[in-house]
Amino acid sequence: MILVDDHCHLTHELYKNDLDQVLERARKAGVVAIICSGVNVPTNREALEIAKKYTPLVRASLGIYPVDALGIPADESGLSRQEGPIDLDSEFDFIKKNKHDIAAIGEVGLDSHWVKDPELQKKQRENFARVIQFAEDIKKPLVVHTRDAESDAVEMLASSSVKNVVLHCFTGRKSVVKRAIDLGYYFSIPAIIEKLQHFKMIAEMASINQLLSETDGPWLSPISGRNEPANVLYTVRNIAKVKGFTEEEVANNIWLNFQRVFG
Ligand SMILES: [Zn+2]
Repeated sequence: MILVDDHCHLTHELYKNDLDQVLERARKAGVVAIICSGVNVPTNREALEIAKKYTPLVRASLGIYPVDALGIPADESGLSRQEGPIDLDSEFDFIKKNKHDIAAIGEVGLDSHWVKDPELQKKQRENFARVIQFAEDIKKPLVVHTRDAESDAVEMLASSSVKNVVLHCFTGRKSVVKRAIDLGYYFSIPAIIEKLQHFKMIAEMASINQLLSETDGPWLSPISGRNEPANVLYTVRNIAKVKGFTEEEVANNIWLNFQRVFG
């Protein structure tokens, strides 16, 4: 079976000691493509390095995480920390310089779960608007993270001309899911669909042609402990169950979708 993990964080310290083995297990499981996501200045550089080392299996996506962009100190996350706010112009320059070596821009988006202050939320929307504009300019797909701001994020995207949008681990309510389906956006379904009804609902609502698979490793394990790319099989298995297709059919379809989005 051909599998893809279009969103995970291989730069995380939990992979520091055994990334070779993690990727070997992924290969054995049938994973042919992994997108390692950056979120800020240091992790974008680390993601590029990992992609270079493990090419062609691993590709990088360079991001400007909405919380990191504002320079709000995150809890201990296990990822390299952003010192102070991200200088968008200089990071855009960096991404542009590497645009032939990356699969996408992401993760980017809006997060009102960690950003509650209305002034900062406004700043966050301004940043996201600039990121969307940038993605239009360099013609790369956008991998969007959004939490407690799903409708705002989708409407901002809808009013732009970007078409290649991947909503990663999308937690929006049913009406917003419907809206995103109508806009032709893709849903990257995490392996934790194994445990969460919400993602089964999305898998049911969206066409198979709009679904992708991810782990968001090392987080959101469908079993327990550290998550890793080989676990995308859980996504495929659950989509197959929900839609009444074979796992093979789902995997092949997701592979086609992956190529359509990320090239
Ligand atoms: Zn992520």
